[in-house]
Amino acid sequence: MNKLWKLDMEISVVVPLYNEEESLGELTRWISKVCLGLNKSFEIILVDDGSIDNSWSTINHLATDNPAIKAIRFRRNYGKSAALNEGFRLAKGRVVITMDADLQDSPDEIPDLYDMIANQDYDLVSGWKKKRHDPLNKTLPSKLFNLTTRKISKIPLHDFNCGLKAYRLEVVKAIEVHGEMHRYIPVIAKWNGFRKIGEKVVHHYERKYGHTKYGLSRFIKGYLDLLSITFVSRFGKRPMHLFGFLGSLLFFAGFLIAAYLTYAKFFMEAYRMTERPLFYFGLLAMILGTQLFMTGFLAELVSAAGRTRHNDYGIAESINI
Ligand code: UDP
Ligand code: MG
Repeated sequence: MNKLWKLDMEISVVVPLYNEEESLGELTRWISKVCLGLNKSFEIILVDDGSIDNSWSTINHLATDNPAIKAIRFRRNYGKSAALNEGFRLAKGRVVITMDADLQDSPDEIPDLYDMIANQDYDLVSGWKKKRHDPLNKTLPSKLFNLTTRKISKIPLHDFNCGLKAYRLEVVKAIEVHGEMHRYIPVIAKWNGFRKIGEKVVHHYERKYGHTKYGLSRFIKGYLDLLSITFVSRFGKRPMHLFGFLGSLLFFAGFLIAAYLTYAKFFMEAYRMTERPLFYFGLLAMILGTQLFMTGFLAELVSAAGRTRHNDYGIAESINI
């Protein structure tokens, strides 16, 4: 179990929000009621992702009579991942639960999620909105998205992007989420060595107030993100193994072609190099090969620079440190 953090807080509920003024009162009261019912110490961390409505003043108001509320506000809108990342940084609870601010997720799920992390030894439990209350143009692409992610990551989840999730504190301290990577938190967690990932069917409600912050473009961005995290997790710490390999292969092929053409010209038949289409293939292969190789070097430099700044390796336990 986790020994690296002091644990006098049991539950941290992290809520990223962007222009959700109407739902915050009901949401924080509901979360508090459920956690008080559980009789566990808890905190509600509201991360205002640069809202331009009255969310922040609402939060100020709510915090005056709810001591569990802690909040930060971004100066501008950085996106849900950034908001979650900051929430994770601040969280102190043994179990960290994230949920959307729009009341589509139900705080009534907290007790079961808490139990799965605290007592059943899960690293991460993801909600599954089995019966979804969203329009078809959202649920259909989402099915496809989940299928691809499931195949690539080999994590048997149905609903990767569910806002309602629970984590062991150690997990949220070990992972970094930025860009739009919040869709892949289970994948990032798995690649950081947290393997016990579970799923729980959760209730899903229609959005009561406000409107969704994402359009269809989320799916295109989503696939690009999946490509990058697949790449980073496989080759992030050894980019030369990919670029160097491909580069050498290509260069070698080009070199063989050039050598053959040269040999043929002198010993077989006299012709002009540029008359042979093969010549251009060889040339191209050598140039591209060199460039790939150079890309590998650059990527190694970037990766090395990153490593000296902060420790990238997840330390699970330690003795006498
Ligand atoms: N959100 C955020 N920053 C953003 C966009 C969204 O913090 O830039 C929050 C939003 O307030 C909500 C959650 O992320 O609490 C999920 O967003 P939304 O409900 O719009 O997504 P959907 O349910 O349509 O997938
Ligand atoms: Mg929503």
